Amino acid sequence: MTTSLLEHPVILEEISEGVVITDKFFNIHYANKYAQFVLGIPENYKNKIYLYQNLSRSTYEFLKSLKFEDSNQKIQRLGILEFRSEKKITLLDVSINTIEKDRNILFFKNVTDILGLMDSIVTQENQFTHLFHAIPDMLLLINGSKTILMANKSVYNILGWIPSKTIGNSFENFIHSEDKKLFQDLYQESLLNNKIQVGLIRVQNRAGGYSIIEFYVYSDRSDDSDRVYYLGRDVTEKNQYENLLLEKISKDDLTKLSSKKYLYDSIENLIQELNFGRISAFYIFYIDIDRFKDINDSLGYSAGDSVIKLIASRLTRISAIYSKTFIARIGGDKFAIVISCESFSIDPIEICELIQSYFSEILNIQGHQLLLTCSIGVSTGDRSYKDSEKILRHADIALHEAKKKGRGKYCIFEARMQERKYNSFQMESWLREAIDNSNFTLQLQPIVSMQDNIISHAEALCRWNHYTHGNIPPIEFIQLAEETGQIHNIGNWILINACKLLEGWNRNNRTIVPIAINLSPLQFENPNLPKLFSIYLEKHKLRPENIHIELTESLIMSNTQHSIKVLTELKEMGLTIYLDDFGTGYSSLNYLIHFPIDIIKIDKSFIDNILLSNNGFSVVKAIIKMAESLSIKVVAEGVEKREQYEMLKEIGCNYAQGYFISKPLPSDDFNLIKLNEELVNKGLIYTG
Ligand code: C2E
Ligand code: CA
Ligand code: CA
Repeated sequence: MTTSLLEHPVILEEISEGVVITDKFFNIHYANKYAQFVLGIPENYKNKIYLYQNLSRSTYEFLKSLKFEDSNQKIQRLGILEFRSEKKITLLDVSINTIEKDRNILFFKNVTDILGLMDSIVTQENQFTHLFHAIPDMLLLINGSKTILMANKSVYNILGWIPSKTIGNSFENFIHSEDKKLFQDLYQESLLNNKIQVGLIRVQNRAGGYSIIEFYVYSDRSDDSDRVYYLGRDVTEKNQYENLLLEKISKDDLTKLSSKKYLYDSIENLIQELNFGRISAFYIFYIDIDRFKDINDSLGYSAGDSVIKLIASRLTRISAIYSKTFIARIGGDKFAIVISCESFSIDPIEICELIQSYFSEILNIQGHQLLLTCSIGVSTGDRSYKDSEKILRHADIALHEAKKKGRGKYCIFEARMQERKYNSFQMESWLREAIDNSNFTLQLQPIVSMQDNIISHAEALCRWNHYTHGNIPPIEFIQLAEETGQIHNIGNWILINACKLLEGWNRNNRTIVPIAINLSPLQFENPNLPKLFSIYLEKHKLRPENIHIELTESLIMSNTQHSIKVLTELKEMGLTIYLDDFGTGYSSLNYLIHFPIDIIKIDKSFIDNILLSNNGFSVVKAIIKMAESLSIKVVAEGVEKREQYEMLKEIGCNYAQGYFISKPLPSDDFNLIKLNEELVNKGLIYTG
């Protein structure tokens, strides 16, 4: 990696910014002229590694003090840090980035002078005008309504604005719409903290484009003033240069494809895009050349390298077909392709076959004709993924599954392939024991009707208390229970116990709220399910309105005529039907129109987002409006904060469930009067 940087020493040497590359022990592998000057590194270290023992103590201490998360792998701005050498204090504005696991690149510039200058501007009033115009950087003074009160000459030089159109105008008018929020934040923060804030903002220039300006934002120190100074430097070119540099070091030398580091970044970006609703899905294809080791062993490494290069160039053909494609080499003979789409118009199987077709053309390598195959593992990016790691692990698991099937196969990740914490044989026998001994308990989580802030029903959640392993959460056993068929017994156990609870409430004249039961898609394959329900309802003297059932989209996806028939029968019996985890699967309007669904439960991941972004909020609002138009009610899942509750209520959400209201409770603790009182204590008015 370092060599690719050192191939361009001229560009690096010329910039008026420090660039340093170190390993994890802070041995310096490279430092440009500027960095040598500021950090006091002798010039003669060139082309050798400058060991940290040889660094002056101050430089070493400074490098060591940089705290960053290397797992993040993105440029991190560390802000303005003090570098104390023997002679003086220098203020450096430092950014850091991990190129590879053990290697860091640092960018910094000396901002001591800028800050000193700003200080003198605001303290020495009499020199003000002179200094104000003498600064080569642009300087603006802005008040609380964002009006430009003053602008120095450099503003006109840099942006080409005309004075008469600058003074008295709103600064916000000149700012790129995506940067307006940052602009506001810098303003607020500088006033609140009385500290210098730094940020990159795109500002309109006279040529009609945007210049990237790095602003140092500083509040006027006089009391009660809402005036703030914006000192700006045009970094448009430097910014483009930094991006170029990063691009260079993120490329794989052999194939010129992106490196693994960029793969993580690109996936993190796609996860964001998904959350903002800008794309509807993305797919990751892990591609591994079958028996590549044989080529290396029999024809030598240079033949191996040629194969990799040729395959890489064939893989890039895919970007001509799918426009949103990202290709990386992620290891010896392993590649990753990421394809995103705005609508579900992409078929991953078709893509697997296309990739395999690239391999079916004969390769001529050093006079040998080779016919290769590849194995492919696919994972589908949906909203349930919070970071790149898990989704890549899933692609890798799918790749292993494909390899198990032999050469030239592909496999799409399914949840059942998950690595398990427990050995599944062991778990299966524990589960059997648990079913025999009824080692399950049923918890209830209250659900509030937001219209009148009162508990309107509850969800039944199953708990397994293992005699040595303690509480085993449902996500760890439901799936196995489904695979082994034990889910039918567990499902029955829950149904019976929910009915018993309801009967008990009736007997004791307690107010009764309906209980919603989670049903696995497999339970719908049992043609006797509706009969079972009617037997239990009758036995426990319950009405069908007392029982609600929750199903997931996977049931609808499987779309077996049979399951749908069972669902329709349950609905006709008078049971209320929920679509659970709405948004995490292949949510489609179609389902809502064609299936007898009464209520949808918006998945927690969406609810988390309403406070985090405008888009997150708009998505939930859109779901609520859409449901309303279909006369379907909406439950918000995982409501943890009052702000979420209030926002949801405002946009017409019908019901809320989550820790803000209550965690799931042992059924004995589910006391409606107490729970409703708690709602009153939370300030939610209860009119009962
Ligand atoms: P689910 O049906 O989506 O259930 C909601 C899950 O979210 C529950 O986890 C609940 O405890 C949790 N939860 C509720 N409010 C909040 C909140 O504000 N914050 C957070 N972080 N979590 C919240 P639990 O009980 O671990 O259940 C997990 C999943 O296991 C359930 O997801 C459901 O799919 C399955 N499951 C649970 N009980 C049963 C059952 O009896 N039968 C079947 N087939 N599946 C079940
Ligand atoms: Ca549920
Ligand atoms: Ca759910």
